[in-house]
Amino acid sequence: MYREFQLSDLNAENLWRGLRKKVTYERYRSIDDIKIINENENFHISYKNVNAQTKIEYNTDLLILATPKIPADGTEQLAKLLKVATNIDGFFLEADAKLRPIDFATEGIFLCGGAHWPKWIGESITQAYGAAGRAAIIMVKGEIETECITSYINEEKCIGCAKCIEVCPYNAIELIDINKEMGLYNISLRKARIVNAVCKGCGACVVECSVGAIDQNHFSKFQINKMIDLLPSLDIIDYEFV
Ligand code: SF4
Ligand code: SF4
Repeated sequence: MYREFQLSDLNAENLWRGLRKKVTYERYRSIDDIKIINENENFHISYKNVNAQTKIEYNTDLLILATPKIPADGTEQLAKLLKVATNIDGFFLEADAKLRPIDFATEGIFLCGGAHWPKWIGESITQAYGAAGRAAIIMVKGEIETECITSYINEEKCIGCAKCIEVCPYNAIELIDINKEMGLYNISLRKARIVNAVCKGCGACVVECSVGAIDQNHFSKFQINKMIDLLPSLDIIDYEFV
């Protein structure tokens, strides 16, 4: 009986297909649907089969329980700290399953092994080599190229509400205290500041800021509004691709 199967590679898939010829796999929906009664050293098992939607009952003299692999303690806290994603089961989630399978969306952080999902030792080792290689590329270069379309904050308008920090998926915004002289007084004001090297220019913070203090280099609100204003007056141009 199983609730979820996750086969991580072709070897596991082939093994499972071979076993299916000799073993019956039955899927249940919830552990609460299963009843096990121990009678005279026999187990009476009853549960609802998900696929057939029928109640199944049988007796067995042997019952072996397998525990599932779950994410390590502290995975959620670590994900919050690093601002990286987790899947619905709580394991770390890669940036793209096909194109960036060992990268996080956040630059410079990589994943491998059981932190990703339950997998064989062979695949874990291969993935670890890959993650180490990806990290080595950055370390050998000694520098990284940043995005050119980053966002910036107008400190005069910013009221330090920190809403932009909550929505930034790359942890690229920090709160700083700045001192300002106002007549006879010297006051401390809290403002947001974007770390350019980390910003990916996704624009999430720009739309979140309720006082319009954030804008994007090369895509400022002024530039976008100008483009929209000019659109009706433009002739339709046919481009010929050669
Ligand atoms: S959301 Fe706008 S006002 Fe609030 S901290 Fe960020 S930049 Fe400042
Ligand atoms: S543009 Fe995106 S990555 Fe850059 S600071 Fe704003 S939310 Fe963060």
